[in-house]
Amino acid sequence: MNAHPNEAIGRVNIVGGGLAGCEAAWQLARRGVPVDLYEMRPVTGTAAHATGDLAELVCSNSFRSRSLTAGAGLLKEEMRRMGSLILTLGEVHQVPAGSALAVDRTRFARAVSERVAALPGLRLIRREIETIPAGLTIVATGPLTAQPLSECIGKLLGAEHLYYYDAISPVVTAESVDAAVAFRASRYDEQPGDYLNLPLTQAEYYRLVDAVTGAEKVPVRSFERFFEGCLPVEEMARRGRETLAFGPLRPTGLVDPASGQRPYAVVQLRQENREATLYNLVGFQTKMTYPEQKRVFSLIPGLAKAVFVRYGSLHRNTFINAPRHLLPTLQWRGAPRLFFAGQITGVEGYIESAASGLLAGVNAARLATGAKPVTPPATTALGSLLHYITDAGREGFQPMNVNFGLFPSLPIKARGRRKRELMAERSLRDVERWWLETGEDGAAGAVRQA
Ligand SMILES: Cc1cc2nc3c(=O)[nH]c(=O)nc-3n(C[C@H](O)[C@H](O)[C@H](O)COP(=O)(O)OP(=O)(O)OC[C@H]3O[C@@H](n4cnc5c(N)ncnc54)[C@H](O)[C@@H]3O)c2cc1C
Repeated sequence: MNAHPNEAIGRVNIVGGGLAGCEAAWQLARRGVPVDLYEMRPVTGTAAHATGDLAELVCSNSFRSRSLTAGAGLLKEEMRRMGSLILTLGEVHQVPAGSALAVDRTRFARAVSERVAALPGLRLIRREIETIPAGLTIVATGPLTAQPLSECIGKLLGAEHLYYYDAISPVVTAESVDAAVAFRASRYDEQPGDYLNLPLTQAEYYRLVDAVTGAEKVPVRSFERFFEGCLPVEEMARRGRETLAFGPLRPTGLVDPASGQRPYAVVQLRQENREATLYNLVGFQTKMTYPEQKRVFSLIPGLAKAVFVRYGSLHRNTFINAPRHLLPTLQWRGAPRLFFAGQITGVEGYIESAASGLLAGVNAARLATGAKPVTPPATTALGSLLHYITDAGREGFQPMNVNFGLFPSLPIKARGRRKRELMAERSLRDVERWWLETGEDGAAGAVRQA
């Protein structure tokens, strides 16, 4: 253990030494707050991690786009300005990947492990935690949180507020759906109609079913199982050519105003956010690869030019009902000294997990030293994501990654790339101003030099 002059502040517990936990530990230590970081590996493993390294990447080695006109690129730029360890070491250990930031996973995880283990005042304790520790604590145990702790969290929040799988349908921007094809209606003519409906003829329906069954899929991992009530679209299609037409694509109660007829099948798009800038494809949870999703779903009438802000997925994922339980500062509504960070909050992705760890670390340090926790403006990439996952009015919560559809609209009309450029400019301006106002920029400066 490293000696620390600030033991009087009280130690902050971090459970989980993944991307979020390591970023949080770094932010706390840079602010002079002592940390106990609990990581169960290599003593207890998970179904996906292969080493005892901290911040191990379990699948792809990509931190996604660097472009400021992509949500992940903009989020990384905000993290840079806030002094992120994960981003800094990701860039040190990058490998060529075109416009994306990809890393040498072994070197990256080792570098994070070494840097975190050497932080002043940090004790790295290799032990599985089964109950939430007393005192200021950040729970960052990720999508594969060990079962005893999951059960403890379930008891704390109510078992119905802790989920073990995500079944995400693709999400498209509203403006990219062809308005000449889509018609607004709910089944049986409830007015004014909440769904955007995309009608299919019999030929269009069969073309879609064949494309879905023939598409390339991500292999199912041994620890993943599907629930009958939430099957991947390709599994439904595989069970029979008409299964989807009697399931999520059933046309019952819908009449296409263009033809005055009931279509053969209908793809329904459900509103995803309050601003109605995003819609999800109802029932299209899938394990198709991302490029295949783009190809296959673009066959749906009205989606030929759709912009997908997130693709469908279906995998093991422990996450909490954040809209019900978390504040945008990542504090639990029930006890402000308990924070959640990383994938368990319902953010999705390496970079999003690390960014939420960054904010949880900053806020735990603020609480430990008598300052008020903060949250970035909703006009920033991190702020818009946090506002999305903690919007108390949200029902049927599913994890979300960073994307421009989450941002509040601009005061002026703009479309496509120009719109994203203007949103990115606003975001970086606002994050700089906010960071200065919080007084945290001094700590970030120290991080940059370290
Ligand atoms: C199979 C799989 C593949 C994924 N692939 C990608 C991908 O390719 N790209 C992407 O962007 N995102 C991916 N994700 C999603 C997500 O971004 C990553 O899981 C990311 O690592 C989450 O960061 P985290 O810090 O929240 O959790 P993790 O990085 O998983 O860290 C959590 C840590 O907590 C430890 N832990 C768990 N329970 C306990 C306990 N009770 N006591 C002590 N320690 C504990 C774990 O050992 C782990 O080290 C994937 C998720 C899964 C499950």
